[in-house]
Amino acid sequence: MRVLKIMMMSFSGNVLERASEHRADPAWIAAQRAQALILPLWQLKVLVHEDRAARLEPHLCETLAGPGASCVFLGLENGRPLFALDISHQPEDPAAAGLLASEFRDLRAAAFILPEADTAILGQAKALIDWHRRHGFCPNCGAATDFADGGYRRVCPACAAEHFPRTDPVVIMLPIDGDHCLIGRNKRFPEGLYSAFAGFVEPGETIEEAVRRELREEVNVAAAAITYHASQPWPFPSALMIGCYATVSTRDFATDGHEIQDARWMSRQEVRARLAGEITDAIKLPAPIAIAHHLIRDWAER
Ligand SMILES: [Zn+2]
Repeated sequence: MRVLKIMMMSFSGNVLERASEHRADPAWIAAQRAQALILPLWQLKVLVHEDRAARLEPHLCETLAGPGASCVFLGLENGRPLFALDISHQPEDPAAAGLLASEFRDLRAAAFILPEADTAILGQAKALIDWHRRHGFCPNCGAATDFADGGYRRVCPACAAEHFPRTDPVVIMLPIDGDHCLIGRNKRFPEGLYSAFAGFVEPGETIEEAVRRELREEVNVAAAAITYHASQPWPFPSALMIGCYATVSTRDFATDGHEIQDARWMSRQEVRARLAGEITDAIKLPAPIAIAHHLIRDWAER
């Protein structure tokens, strides 16, 4: 299990059957909920029991939800419906208060110990509950919106506008030149961490254009070929990380001095040695829960 944990990517590989063709049918959703297991979220924290996502019988947590609490259909897990329920209405942590026999944890921290299958489901749950918490009012006219389609739509009763859960595309890229890659230190990173470069895709941009713009802005390098590698849902709050390699033709770079504090070329050999734990100094590479780790590792092990 520990080996799998290292090789796989957190928040990806969601095994739920989403049954999206049934979600617009309120009677079907109600029938599913009657026989569901529940993943409760309190203040966007997830419930963890013995290093797994706690799946509760409905009676254990529905009394903790406030009136109109969001209850989102996640999908079918081995045929049994799974819902996420927002119990943030509780003034205090219901687990700490002894009302639930497990522990609410921040999902990013919990991802280090949870099986990937659970991080993927909890990521879906957190992103959706978070979206409902922030979209109670219509951005078009300001009226209160109604929950619909098992949680995959909100509808405004005043102006009929429809609102759908958002996913924000983020490009994350590793510049490479031969057997070296360029990694950088963002000012928001923990001390010593160097990683790939990243930024939101802007309206009107392709993935490739966003990669080129971000690399120009952050380290002033021009990308030649750009190749897609893999993607990762990143529910903080609702990003989709799009991992790419960017081949560059010169090793000259200049950090923007603002977002990126430092950058350095690192050889494939050094990356491999660091990933194997053979070099222990102040420099750290990203942890396996991040797609940056997999971009760097997959390149180094090619
Ligand atoms: Zn409206």
